[in-house]
Amino acid sequence: MRYEGSIYRPPSEARSLIIQATIGCSHNKCSFCSMYKDKNFRIRNTDDILEDISIARNRFTNINRVFLADGDALMIKTPELVKILNYIKLNIPECERIGIYASPNSIKRKSLEELKLLKSLGLDIAYLGLESGSDKVLLDINKGSTSEEIINCAIKLKEAGILVSITLISGLGGKEHWKDHAIDSAKAINKINPDYLGLLTLMIDPETRLYEEISKGSFQLLSPREVALETLEFLTHLDSEGTIFRSNHASNYISLRGTLNKDIPKMIRELEEVIKEDIGFKEEWMRRL
Ligand code: SF4
Repeated sequence: MRYEGSIYRPPSEARSLIIQATIGCSHNKCSFCSMYKDKNFRIRNTDDILEDISIARNRFTNINRVFLADGDALMIKTPELVKILNYIKLNIPECERIGIYASPNSIKRKSLEELKLLKSLGLDIAYLGLESGSDKVLLDINKGSTSEEIINCAIKLKEAGILVSITLISGLGGKEHWKDHAIDSAKAINKINPDYLGLLTLMIDPETRLYEEISKGSFQLLSPREVALETLEFLTHLDSEGTIFRSNHASNYISLRGTLNKDIPKMIRELEEVIKEDIGFKEEWMRRL
C-alpha cells in the first residue's frame, strides 16, 4: 500500500483496510494535537485513490471494513466520494462498513441529501472529535468550532443515517475548567445521543502549543485522580440511552466501558472505588496515543 507519513485511525478500525484519501487534517490547529503537524492538507487525486483500492484488492482477501484516512476525508467533493464509494462496492463486495473521519467544516459543506447519498453508497460511520462540550475549552484549544456547531453537525450525520462516533478528551479543561468541561461535555453528548462515544485522556506531545502553555504555567494538567473525578462528574450528568461508551484507550488511566445509560451506575461505582483507594491507575509509562 502507498501511505504518506504517519497514519492514524480510530481504535475500532484496527482491522480495517486504511485508504489514505486525503493527506493531513483540514483544520490542523488544535493546540493539543500533533498528529498531522508535518503535513499540509490536500485531497489526493481520485485516480490514485482508486488505484490504491485495486492494489489492496489484489493483495488481500476478506476486506470487511474500509477506513478513509487521513484527518478529514469528508472534505472530498461529493462526486469524487461517490466514485470512491462505488469503486469500493464494485471491487470489495464483501466490505460491510466504510468509515471516515469528519470535521465540522466538512460536514457543513455537505447538504443532508449529499450525506444521505453517501450513506446509500456504503458510508456507514463517521468519527467526529467534539473534544469538549465547553465553548471556553474549545476556544482555548483552538478547535475552530463551538459546541453547538459540532452538536448540529453530529445530528445532521445521524439524520442522514450515518453512525456517529464522538471523541472527547478528559483533562482538556486543565485544573481551571475541569468541571465545566465535564458537565458541558455530558450536556453535549445528551443532545447528540451518538452511537459511539470514546473518552480518551489528554497526553502531551512536546510539539504542541499546549506543551508550551504547560511549560509557561498557563495550563495545569490534572493528576490521574483528578481525571477520575472529572470522569465521575461527566458520568453523573450523562443521559444518552443506547450509546456504546468506551474509555479503554491506551491513553486512559482507568479502563471503563459500557452501554449507556444502563451501565452508568456500574462505571460510577468502579470510579468511586479507584478514587477512594487512590490505586488502580495506569502507570504514566504505559500510556500511549
Ligand atoms: S484534533 Fe482533529 S481537528 Fe484538531 S488538529 Fe488534530 S486531527 Fe485536526
